[in-house]
Amino acid sequence: MNTLLKGKTILIMGVANKWSIAWGIAEACLDAGANLIFTYQGERNLSNLQKLTADLPNISLYKCDVTEDQDIIDLFHNIGNDYGTIHGIVHSIAFAKKEELEGAYYNTSREGYHLAQDISAYSLVAVSRHARPLMKDGGSILTLTYIGAERAVQNYNVMGVAKSALESSVRYLAADLGPENIRVNSISAGPIKTLAAQGVKGFGSILKVYEEKVPLRRAVTQREVGDTAVFLLSHMSRGITGENIHVDAGFHAMGLL
Ligand code: NAD
Repeated sequence: MNTLLKGKTILIMGVANKWSIAWGIAEACLDAGANLIFTYQGERNLSNLQKLTADLPNISLYKCDVTEDQDIIDLFHNIGNDYGTIHGIVHSIAFAKKEELEGAYYNTSREGYHLAQDISAYSLVAVSRHARPLMKDGGSILTLTYIGAERAVQNYNVMGVAKSALESSVRYLAADLGPENIRVNSISAGPIKTLAAQGVKGFGSILKVYEEKVPLRRAVTQREVGDTAVFLLSHMSRGITGENIHVDAGFHAMGLL
């Protein structure tokens, strides 16, 4: 337990189940004393979230499918009415069609390209725009990315390109929102076994490389990402914006493995 986020209200977007990185972040935020608000994409995620949060006091759950402008508008309208002010947002959302996450990148369809960009990158822009009026005391916006944004990673394909757009959006949003003391950063997480990750062909063999070759000789956990998220959401990181922090057991520092 610590008090890094005591008195702060944090919106967590992207818990699908207990393996989600967003859930690891939520647990770390709770241990740091935060008040949490969650969004869910659809009914299946709602029942998982209800089970996960059943014992937590004062938790609110709101539906938000980020492909729907009206969902995003309603979300921040309702949070404004119910809470007035928020201090942080965790955007832990991405999607690409399974068939786009294998083989050659040049086979990416126009529709698949647009869908991956819309859900995985544009959504951060729309969320930041509508959240801004509620961050009256300043704030911290955080998103999740992967090394496939910086390098060509086999099978990551269209998602790597969407993550590049996401990382660039972090820099542009940081420039826009900095004068209002709203910071925008990303965490580049190492591979973690989640629902989304299992859509990438050959995901199991990436994990094996981690165990054998990266500096820490292991994969990272949701909770390790969560602890870095608490840092980025807290006063401790008040001088940091437009940054991408790798929580990947050192993989990004290595050459070809
Ligand atoms: P996950 O499947 O648990 O979470 C992905 C979330 O995205 C789900 O909650 C899903 O409901 C949500 N989502 C998808 N489409 C949506 C939409 N239209 N509207 C609202 N929500 C939508 O998987 P995860 O691995 O925890 O992914 C979270 C984030 O972490 C993603 O951005 C992912 O790219 C990133 N990431 C994951 C890894 C990894 O290895 N697992 C590594 C680096 C970065």
